[in-house]
Amino acid sequence: MAYHISPAPELPRATCALKFAIAGGGIAGLAAACALKLAGHDVVGVVERSDGTFQSRGGIQSTPGMTRTLLRWGFAPELQQHAHKCGVLVFRNGLSDDLIGRLKIDQDFLGDILTEFLFIQHQDLHNILRARLDAEGVPLLYNTSVDDVTISAEGATLALSTGQTLDADIVIAADGWNSALRERVVPDAPALQVVTEEQVTAPASPEHVLHLMFTVPTEKLAEDAELRFLTNRALWPMWMGQGFAINMNITTDGTALTATLTYDWDGEILAEDEEYVERPLAYFQLDLEKFCPTLCRLLSIVDTVSARVVTNRPVAEDVVCADSRIVLAGDAAHPLLPARPSLAIEDAETLRAIFARMTKPAERPRFLNAYEELRQPYCEGVVAYDRAFHQLVRTEPGASMDERDEMLRASMAHGGWEHIDEAAFRAGWETELRMYTFDAMEHVDSHWTHWGRYMKGEAGVVKRGKRRGASQQFFSGFTKSFTRLPPTYS
Ligand SMILES: Cc1cc2nc3c(=O)[nH]c(=O)nc-3n(C[C@H](O)[C@H](O)[C@H](O)COP(=O)(O)OP(=O)(O)OC[C@H]3O[C@@H](n4cnc5c(N)ncnc54)[C@H](O)[C@@H]3O)c2cc1C
Repeated sequence: MAYHISPAPELPRATCALKFAIAGGGIAGLAAACALKLAGHDVVGVVERSDGTFQSRGGIQSTPGMTRTLLRWGFAPELQQHAHKCGVLVFRNGLSDDLIGRLKIDQDFLGDILTEFLFIQHQDLHNILRARLDAEGVPLLYNTSVDDVTISAEGATLALSTGQTLDADIVIAADGWNSALRERVVPDAPALQVVTEEQVTAPASPEHVLHLMFTVPTEKLAEDAELRFLTNRALWPMWMGQGFAINMNITTDGTALTATLTYDWDGEILAEDEEYVERPLAYFQLDLEKFCPTLCRLLSIVDTVSARVVTNRPVAEDVVCADSRIVLAGDAAHPLLPARPSLAIEDAETLRAIFARMTKPAERPRFLNAYEELRQPYCEGVVAYDRAFHQLVRTEPGASMDERDEMLRASMAHGGWEHIDEAAFRAGWETELRMYTFDAMEHVDSHWTHWGRYMKGEAGVVKRGKRRGASQQFFSGFTKSFTRLPPTYS
């Protein structure tokens, strides 16, 4: 597969290297480590509490912005091997199977944007990042937890479950959705340095969502006349039902269908349900009455799934601790629905683009301040968008579901299938297209153009949260996009 953006020949590197320690070896932690190495810094260790052998099953979408970042990091050969494009998005109602809309993703339609929209397996992305770190000699400490972090004037020290310690200038807390590093900093744990001041307003009724991934061998689908259509590698089928949404695609090597289901969860939640675990599908007792016959048939041939139940929580209000030593990244900072790791890659690219500019240690607080100013409001906007969009699945069959489908149908049908009106589509899906093309490096560059003069001073008291101009501008009118939704959903 050819990409029309070549990787940058050489990326800028810091003239003063800091030591970074990473808590969590998921996509966010591995990506941050790769990015900081590219920026010329020392990564003293990526600490991961699992043994690193879990094989995830989900497919993820690399947005054009994320693809550009991975190419910039020099991953073109890996993307050639492990990623591919889908030709047609097919959107259906999950209860009736009725067609809502189709969108041909090709050079003729939004070619400048969508040609870099790629599909890759979560596991392949993980392996690619991990292989790079192995090659760079970055210590990957598996079966090891970060138990504590202490901050001193000199830096941060991680206490590890093995009894060892790790010293760093900055700790990247990429310890996932239920981040202990984030949660242990709320006021009742003042002994640990404060990283975040969480929004005190919890959602009125906690919202639990099952994130479930599975694969089915294409051979098995080919044997079934009603499911054979799913073996078409060009398809990106998606169903939106009552309390669930599911999307799927064929893996790059063509051997399997990979599917990601989000399902409103109102059952009991055991502690082990909150971690990705391999289980029989039957464990979750999905209400199959809600699924159309095609989906029921597909689910009937699924054996095991990897899944977890998450409890929605707000985006952390601050993503850098008061001492500018601990930084949140990935799900620890901004819990997102699955299949969207682009924010974690953007966090890493933002760190790279900022810290590549480092010329002296005293710049650390200001640089972290810039990270927070750029990431926090932007991620808050993306998560709000994601949640609002997924409210669409919480509709009862009948008039409100029809209204929802009609609204989506209208937004995808400008001018009809063969003669889609690109200008009208761009106007209707403006926010989504802006998010897809968001380039974290360009965001940093533009911030530096506006605020760079403030970065040159010596470290002093940093007034955090006062200057979130660049991201706020990006998202001004963000929720406007939902004015097209009926009031029930907005
Ligand atoms: C095993 C697994 C499989 C997944 N599979 C998919 C998938 O197929 N599709 C998909 O869309 N998303 C998947 N996700 C989620 C996805 O990776 C994230 O939603 C997103 O990419 C952001 O990643 P993250 O690194 O912030 O969080 P995570 O991927 O959750 O990674 C956080 C990591 O931190 C580790 N950790 C937590 N606490 C500590 C501690 N105290 N010390 C050391 N390590 C710690 C965890 O073991 C975990 O590996 C998976 C996550 C995991 C953990």
